[in-house]
Amino acid sequence: MGLFDLFSNDIAMDLGTANTLIYIKNKGIVLNEPSIVAYDKNTKNIIAFGNSAKQMMGREHRDIRVTRPMRDGVIADFEIAEGMIREFIKKASHGLSAAKRIVVAVSTGVTEVEKRAVRDSAEHAGAKEVHLIAEPMAAAIGIDIDVEAPVGCMIVDIGGGTTEIAVIALSGIVNEESIRIAGDEMNNAIVDFFKKKYNMLIGERTAETIKCEVGSAVPLKEEIIINVKGRDQIAGIPKAQEVSSAEIREALQSNIIQIIEAVKRTLEKTPPELSTDILDRGIMLTGGGALLKGLDERIKMETNLPVFVADDPLTAVVRGTGKAIENIQKYSKVFIKKRNF
Ligand code: ADP
Ligand code: MG
Repeated sequence: MGLFDLFSNDIAMDLGTANTLIYIKNKGIVLNEPSIVAYDKNTKNIIAFGNSAKQMMGREHRDIRVTRPMRDGVIADFEIAEGMIREFIKKASHGLSAAKRIVVAVSTGVTEVEKRAVRDSAEHAGAKEVHLIAEPMAAAIGIDIDVEAPVGCMIVDIGGGTTEIAVIALSGIVNEESIRIAGDEMNNAIVDFFKKKYNMLIGERTAETIKCEVGSAVPLKEEIIINVKGRDQIAGIPKAQEVSSAEIREALQSNIIQIIEAVKRTLEKTPPELSTDILDRGIMLTGGGALLKGLDERIKMETNLPVFVADDPLTAVVRGTGKAIENIQKYSKVFIKKRNF
Protein backbone atom coordinates (compact mmCIF):
# COMPACT_ATOMS: atom_id res chain seq x y z
CA MET A 1 0.00 0.00 0.00
CA GLY A 2 1.47 3.31 -1.00
CA LEU A 3 1.59 6.25 1.31
CA PHE A 4 -1.09 7.95 -0.72
CA ASP A 5 -3.59 5.17 0.03
CA LEU A 6 -3.38 5.87 3.71
CA PHE A 7 -4.85 9.27 3.11
CA SER A 8 -7.52 8.34 0.66
CA ASN A 9 -10.10 6.71 2.89
CA ASP A 10 -13.46 7.95 1.79
CA ILE A 11 -15.97 6.79 4.36
CA ALA A 12 -19.75 6.38 4.48
CA MET A 13 -21.51 6.02 7.80
CA ASP A 14 -25.01 5.04 8.85
CA LEU A 15 -25.29 6.55 12.29
CA GLY A 16 -28.35 4.61 13.39
CA THR A 17 -30.12 4.76 16.73
CA ALA A 18 -29.54 1.02 17.19
CA ASN A 19 -26.62 0.18 14.87
CA THR A 20 -23.75 2.04 13.26
CA LEU A 21 -22.41 0.79 9.95
CA ILE A 22 -19.36 2.04 8.10
CA TYR A 23 -18.54 1.57 4.45
CA ILE A 24 -15.15 2.37 3.01
CA LYS A 25 -14.74 3.26 -0.63
CA ASN A 26 -13.58 0.29 -2.71
CA LYS A 27 -13.83 -1.99 0.34
CA GLY A 28 -17.52 -2.19 1.23
CA ILE A 29 -19.02 -2.54 4.71
CA VAL A 30 -16.18 -2.80 7.22
CA LEU A 31 -18.03 -2.19 10.49
CA ASN A 32 -21.49 -3.08 11.79
CA GLU A 33 -21.91 -2.64 15.54
CA PRO A 34 -24.52 -1.44 18.02
CA SER A 35 -24.53 2.34 18.64
CA ILE A 36 -23.65 1.86 22.29
CA VAL A 37 -20.96 3.46 24.46
CA ALA A 38 -19.68 2.64 27.94
CA TYR A 39 -17.98 5.49 29.72
CA ASP A 40 -16.59 6.49 33.07
CA LYS A 41 -19.17 8.67 34.79
CA ASN A 42 -16.56 10.78 36.55
CA THR A 43 -14.14 11.46 33.72
CA LYS A 44 -16.48 10.84 30.75
CA ASN A 45 -13.68 8.75 29.21
CA ILE A 46 -14.95 6.11 26.83
CA ILE A 47 -14.26 2.62 28.14
CA ALA A 48 -15.86 0.57 25.39
CA PHE A 49 -18.08 1.04 22.35
CA GLY A 50 -20.08 -1.10 19.92
CA ASN A 51 -20.24 -4.84 20.56
CA SER A 52 -18.08 -4.77 23.66
CA ALA A 53 -20.18 -1.97 25.21
CA LYS A 54 -23.35 -3.96 24.49
CA GLN A 55 -22.03 -6.83 26.58
CA MET A 56 -21.66 -4.44 29.53
CA MET A 57 -25.28 -3.33 29.29
CA GLY A 58 -27.26 -4.11 32.42
CA ARG A 59 -24.04 -5.08 34.19
CA GLU A 60 -22.60 -1.63 34.89
CA HIS A 61 -21.46 -0.50 38.33
CA ARG A 62 -21.25 2.83 40.14
CA ASP A 63 -18.63 4.41 37.92
CA ILE A 64 -19.64 3.03 34.55
CA ARG A 65 -22.56 4.13 32.45
CA VAL A 66 -23.63 2.36 29.28
CA THR A 67 -25.76 4.43 26.90
CA ARG A 68 -27.09 4.69 23.39
CA PRO A 69 -26.35 8.32 22.56
CA MET A 70 -28.50 8.32 19.40
CA ARG A 71 -31.40 6.58 21.08
CA ASP A 72 -34.41 8.49 19.77
CA GLY A 73 -32.88 9.66 16.53
CA VAL A 74 -31.64 12.72 18.34
CA ILE A 75 -28.35 13.18 20.12
CA ALA A 76 -28.94 12.74 23.84
CA ASP A 77 -25.40 13.54 24.92
CA PHE A 78 -23.24 15.45 22.46
CA GLU A 79 -19.92 14.76 24.10
CA ILE A 80 -20.51 11.02 24.33
CA ALA A 81 -21.99 10.86 20.82
CA GLU A 82 -18.97 12.63 19.42
CA GLY A 83 -16.65 10.23 21.24
CA MET A 84 -18.55 7.28 19.82
CA ILE A 85 -18.43 8.61 16.26
CA ARG A 86 -14.71 9.19 16.58
CA GLU A 87 -14.05 5.71 17.95
CA PHE A 88 -16.06 4.05 15.19
CA ILE A 89 -14.26 5.98 12.46
CA LYS A 90 -10.91 5.20 14.05
CA LYS A 91 -11.74 1.50 14.25
CA ALA A 92 -13.04 1.31 10.68
CA SER A 93 -10.00 3.03 9.25
CA HIS A 94 -7.71 0.95 11.49
CA GLY A 95 -6.41 4.10 13.09
CA LEU A 96 -4.11 4.44 10.10
CA SER A 97 -5.27 7.68 8.72
CA ALA A 98 -7.98 10.20 8.86
CA ALA A 99 -10.93 9.94 6.54
CA LYS A 100 -10.60 12.33 3.69
CA ARG A 101 -14.24 12.65 2.87
CA ILE A 102 -17.17 11.31 4.78
CA VAL A 103 -20.89 11.03 4.12
CA VAL A 104 -23.06 10.43 7.20
CA ALA A 105 -26.69 9.33 7.05
CA VAL A 106 -28.82 11.01 9.71
CA SER A 107 -32.46 10.83 10.73
CA THR A 108 -34.75 13.34 9.01
CA GLY A 109 -35.87 14.37 12.50
CA VAL A 110 -32.53 15.79 13.62
CA THR A 111 -32.25 19.48 14.41
CA GLU A 112 -29.75 21.96 12.96
CA VAL A 113 -27.78 21.81 16.19
CA GLU A 114 -27.54 18.05 15.95
CA LYS A 115 -26.44 18.21 12.33
CA ARG A 116 -23.77 20.66 13.38
CA ALA A 117 -22.69 18.22 16.10
CA VAL A 118 -22.40 15.35 13.62
CA ARG A 119 -20.35 17.51 11.24
CA ASP A 120 -18.10 18.66 14.07
CA SER A 121 -17.58 15.12 15.34
CA ALA A 122 -16.60 13.89 11.91
CA GLU A 123 -14.24 16.83 11.50
CA HIS A 124 -12.70 16.22 14.90
CA ALA A 125 -12.19 12.64 13.79
CA GLY A 126 -10.08 14.05 10.98
CA ALA A 127 -12.47 14.27 8.02
CA LYS A 128 -11.66 17.08 5.64
CA GLU A 129 -15.03 17.14 3.92
CA VAL A 130 -18.30 16.15 5.59
CA HIS A 131 -21.63 15.60 3.89
CA LEU A 132 -24.92 14.61 5.45
CA ILE A 133 -27.62 12.60 3.75
CA ALA A 134 -31.16 11.90 5.00
CA GLU A 135 -31.63 8.27 6.01
CA PRO A 136 -34.59 7.47 3.75
CA MET A 137 -32.77 9.03 0.78
CA ALA A 138 -29.76 6.84 1.52
CA ALA A 139 -32.03 3.81 1.91
CA ALA A 140 -33.63 4.50 -1.49
CA ILE A 141 -30.23 4.74 -3.18
CA GLY A 142 -29.11 1.62 -1.31
CA ILE A 143 -31.92 -0.44 -2.76
CA ASP A 144 -31.21 0.78 -6.30
CA ILE A 145 -34.09 3.18 -6.73
CA ASP A 146 -33.30 5.85 -9.30
CA VAL A 147 -33.81 8.81 -6.98
CA GLU A 148 -33.15 11.34 -9.73
CA ALA A 149 -36.06 10.11 -11.83
CA PRO A 150 -39.23 12.16 -12.14
CA VAL A 151 -41.05 9.24 -10.56
CA GLY A 152 -42.03 9.09 -6.91
CA CYS A 153 -41.31 6.33 -4.45
CA MET A 154 -42.08 5.80 -0.79
CA ILE A 155 -39.55 4.53 1.73
CA VAL A 156 -40.52 3.41 5.22
CA ASP A 157 -37.36 2.85 7.28
CA ILE A 158 -38.10 1.26 10.65
CA GLY A 159 -35.06 1.46 12.88
CA GLY A 160 -34.55 1.22 16.62
CA GLY A 161 -35.57 4.71 17.76
CA THR A 162 -37.43 6.12 14.80
CA THR A 163 -39.53 5.20 11.82
CA GLU A 164 -38.75 7.46 8.89
CA ILE A 165 -41.29 7.75 6.14
CA ALA A 166 -40.43 9.69 3.00
CA VAL A 167 -41.66 10.25 -0.51
CA ILE A 168 -38.73 10.83 -2.85
CA ALA A 169 -38.58 12.17 -6.41
CA LEU A 170 -36.15 14.23 -8.50
CA SER A 171 -33.29 13.81 -6.00
CA GLY A 172 -35.31 15.35 -3.21
CA ILE A 173 -37.64 14.48 -0.37
CA VAL A 174 -41.14 15.61 -1.28
CA ASN A 175 -42.59 14.94 2.13
CA GLU A 176 -41.50 13.11 5.19
CA GLU A 177 -42.45 12.11 8.65
CA SER A 178 -40.28 10.81 11.45
CA ILE A 179 -41.98 9.22 14.44
CA ARG A 180 -40.41 7.85 17.59
CA ILE A 181 -42.20 4.55 17.31
CA ALA A 182 -39.95 1.76 16.05
CA GLY A 183 -38.02 -1.26 17.31
CA ASP A 184 -37.29 0.09 20.82
CA GLU A 185 -40.94 0.89 21.48
CA MET A 186 -41.88 -2.60 20.36
CA ASN A 187 -39.42 -4.01 22.90
CA ASN A 188 -40.92 -1.79 25.61
CA ALA A 189 -44.42 -2.93 24.66
CA ILE A 190 -43.35 -6.55 25.20
CA VAL A 191 -41.78 -5.70 28.59
CA ASP A 192 -45.03 -3.94 29.62
CA PHE A 193 -47.13 -6.84 28.42
CA PHE A 194 -45.29 -9.28 30.70
CA LYS A 195 -45.61 -6.88 33.63
CA LYS A 196 -49.34 -6.39 33.21
CA LYS A 197 -50.44 -9.83 32.20
CA TYR A 198 -48.06 -12.09 34.11
CA ASN A 199 -46.66 -9.85 36.87
CA MET A 200 -43.31 -10.67 35.44
CA LEU A 201 -40.20 -8.57 34.79
CA ILE A 202 -38.16 -9.34 31.70
CA GLY A 203 -35.12 -7.51 30.38
CA GLU A 204 -35.06 -5.35 27.26
CA ARG A 205 -32.77 -7.77 25.47
CA THR A 206 -35.07 -10.70 26.21
CA ALA A 207 -37.96 -8.63 24.85
CA GLU A 208 -36.00 -7.91 21.67
CA THR A 209 -35.23 -11.60 21.17
CA ILE A 210 -38.92 -12.47 21.60
CA LYS A 211 -39.88 -9.78 19.08
CA CYS A 212 -37.40 -10.98 16.47
CA GLU A 213 -38.25 -14.66 16.92
CA VAL A 214 -42.02 -14.71 17.30
CA GLY A 215 -43.24 -11.11 16.91
CA SER A 216 -45.70 -10.57 14.08
CA ALA A 217 -48.12 -8.10 12.53
CA VAL A 218 -50.61 -10.61 11.09
CA PRO A 219 -51.73 -14.04 12.34
CA LEU A 220 -49.14 -16.72 11.64
CA LYS A 221 -49.98 -19.92 9.76
CA GLU A 222 -49.05 -21.75 12.91
CA GLU A 223 -48.88 -19.78 16.11
CA ILE A 224 -45.76 -20.49 18.18
CA ILE A 225 -45.57 -21.15 21.93
CA ILE A 226 -42.40 -20.03 23.68
CA ASN A 227 -41.09 -20.35 27.19
CA VAL A 228 -39.98 -16.98 28.61
CA LYS A 229 -37.86 -16.55 31.72
CA GLY A 230 -37.92 -13.52 33.98
CA ARG A 231 -38.55 -12.45 37.56
CA ASP A 232 -41.85 -12.62 39.39
CA GLN A 233 -42.77 -9.06 40.37
CA ILE A 234 -44.47 -10.07 43.59
CA ALA A 235 -42.41 -12.99 44.87
CA GLY A 236 -39.19 -11.54 43.46
CA ILE A 237 -37.96 -14.95 42.37
CA PRO A 238 -37.13 -16.25 38.88
CA LYS A 239 -40.07 -17.61 36.97
CA ALA A 240 -40.84 -19.10 33.56
CA GLN A 241 -44.00 -18.54 31.58
CA GLU A 242 -45.38 -19.99 28.36
CA VAL A 243 -46.78 -17.43 25.94
CA SER A 244 -48.02 -17.66 22.39
CA SER A 245 -47.05 -15.57 19.38
CA ALA A 246 -50.68 -14.38 19.29
CA GLU A 247 -50.21 -12.68 22.66
CA ILE A 248 -46.98 -11.03 21.51
CA ARG A 249 -48.78 -9.79 18.39
CA GLU A 250 -51.44 -8.25 20.62
CA ALA A 251 -48.70 -6.51 22.63
CA LEU A 252 -47.20 -5.03 19.44
CA GLN A 253 -50.54 -4.04 17.99
CA SER A 254 -50.66 -0.41 19.09
CA ASN A 255 -47.13 0.32 17.82
CA ILE A 256 -47.94 -1.24 14.48
CA ILE A 257 -51.11 0.81 14.20
CA GLN A 258 -49.15 4.00 14.93
CA ILE A 259 -46.65 3.19 12.17
CA ILE A 260 -49.47 2.50 9.71
CA GLU A 261 -51.24 5.73 10.70
CA ALA A 262 -48.04 7.66 9.98
CA VAL A 263 -47.74 5.97 6.57
CA LYS A 264 -51.33 6.97 5.79
CA ARG A 265 -50.75 10.56 6.91
CA THR A 266 -47.73 10.78 4.59
CA LEU A 267 -49.78 9.35 1.72
CA GLU A 268 -52.48 11.96 2.33
CA LYS A 269 -49.91 14.75 2.03
CA THR A 270 -48.52 13.34 -1.23
CA PRO A 271 -49.37 15.18 -4.47
CA PRO A 272 -51.62 13.08 -6.76
CA GLU A 273 -49.06 12.47 -9.54
CA LEU A 274 -46.71 10.97 -7.00
CA SER A 275 -49.51 8.96 -5.40
CA THR A 276 -50.01 7.30 -8.76
CA ASP A 277 -46.31 6.43 -8.89
CA ILE A 278 -46.51 4.88 -5.43
CA LEU A 279 -49.55 2.90 -6.50
CA ASP A 280 -47.49 1.50 -9.39
CA ARG A 281 -44.22 0.96 -7.58
CA GLY A 282 -45.35 0.24 -4.06
CA ILE A 283 -43.91 1.05 -0.66
CA MET A 284 -40.38 -0.13 0.18
CA LEU A 285 -39.64 -1.21 3.75
CA THR A 286 -36.08 -0.88 5.08
CA GLY A 287 -34.38 -0.94 8.51
CA GLY A 288 -34.42 -3.80 11.00
CA GLY A 289 -38.10 -3.33 11.80
CA ALA A 290 -38.95 -4.33 8.21
CA LEU A 291 -38.09 -7.88 9.30
CA LEU A 292 -41.04 -8.12 11.70
CA LYS A 293 -43.07 -11.06 10.44
CA GLY A 294 -46.04 -10.06 8.30
CA LEU A 295 -45.49 -6.32 8.59
CA ASP A 296 -45.40 -5.96 4.79
CA GLU A 297 -48.62 -7.92 4.47
CA ARG A 298 -50.30 -5.84 7.17
CA ILE A 299 -49.35 -2.50 5.58
CA LYS A 300 -50.52 -3.84 2.22
CA MET A 301 -53.90 -4.77 3.73
CA GLU A 302 -54.37 -1.38 5.33
CA THR A 303 -53.23 0.80 2.42
CA ASN A 304 -54.18 -1.33 -0.59
CA LEU A 305 -50.74 -0.62 -2.02
CA PRO A 306 -48.03 -3.08 -2.99
CA VAL A 307 -45.47 -3.34 -0.17
CA PHE A 308 -41.98 -4.85 -0.42
CA VAL A 309 -39.31 -5.64 2.14
CA ALA A 310 -35.92 -4.57 0.76
CA ASP A 311 -33.20 -7.19 0.43
CA ASP A 312 -31.01 -7.06 3.51
CA PRO A 313 -32.99 -4.16 5.02
CA LEU A 314 -30.49 -3.59 7.87
CA THR A 315 -27.75 -2.51 5.46
CA ALA A 316 -29.83 -0.50 2.96
CA VAL A 317 -28.89 2.90 4.42
CA VAL A 318 -25.14 2.24 4.58
CA ARG A 319 -25.13 0.73 1.08
CA GLY A 320 -26.81 3.88 -0.24
CA THR A 321 -24.48 6.14 1.70
CA GLY A 322 -21.61 4.08 0.27
CA LYS A 323 -22.85 4.64 -3.26
CA ALA A 324 -23.01 8.34 -2.53
CA ILE A 325 -19.35 8.42 -1.43
CA GLU A 326 -18.35 6.36 -4.48
CA ASN A 327 -20.10 8.84 -6.78
CA ILE A 328 -19.94 12.04 -4.84
CA GLN A 329 -20.43 14.20 -7.95
CA LYS A 330 -23.54 12.40 -9.07
CA TYR A 331 -25.14 12.44 -5.65
CA SER A 332 -24.10 15.89 -4.44
CA LYS A 333 -27.66 17.05 -5.18
CA VAL A 334 -29.12 14.77 -2.55
CA PHE A 335 -26.91 15.90 0.34
CA ILE A 336 -28.46 17.98 3.09
CA LYS A 337 -27.67 21.64 2.47
CA LYS A 338 -25.32 23.22 4.92
CA ARG A 339 -26.69 26.20 6.79
CA ASN A 340 -24.60 28.85 8.37
CA PHE A 341 -25.69 29.98 11.77
P1 ADP B 1 -31.24 2.03 13.36
O1 ADP B 1 -31.10 2.43 11.94
O2 ADP B 1 -32.13 2.92 14.16
O3 ADP B 1 -29.90 1.82 14.00
P2 ADP B 1 -31.76 -0.68 12.43
O4 ADP B 1 -32.22 -0.45 11.06
O5 ADP B 1 -30.36 -1.15 12.62
O6 ADP B 1 -31.99 0.61 13.37
O7 ADP B 1 -32.78 -1.70 13.11
C1 ADP B 1 -32.69 -2.06 14.45
C2 ADP B 1 -34.04 -2.48 14.95
O8 ADP B 1 -34.54 -3.56 14.16
C3 ADP B 1 -33.96 -3.00 16.39
O9 ADP B 1 -35.01 -2.45 17.14
C4 ADP B 1 -34.15 -4.50 16.20
O10 ADP B 1 -34.76 -5.10 17.33
C5 ADP B 1 -35.05 -4.55 15.01
N1 ADP B 1 -35.02 -5.87 14.33
C6 ADP B 1 -33.93 -6.54 13.87
N2 ADP B 1 -34.29 -7.75 13.39
C7 ADP B 1 -35.64 -7.85 13.55
C8 ADP B 1 -36.62 -8.87 13.27
N3 ADP B 1 -36.28 -10.04 12.72
N4 ADP B 1 -37.91 -8.62 13.60
C9 ADP B 1 -38.27 -7.46 14.16
N5 ADP B 1 -37.41 -6.47 14.46
C10 ADP B 1 -36.10 -6.65 14.16
MG1 MG C 1 -31.34 3.27 10.27
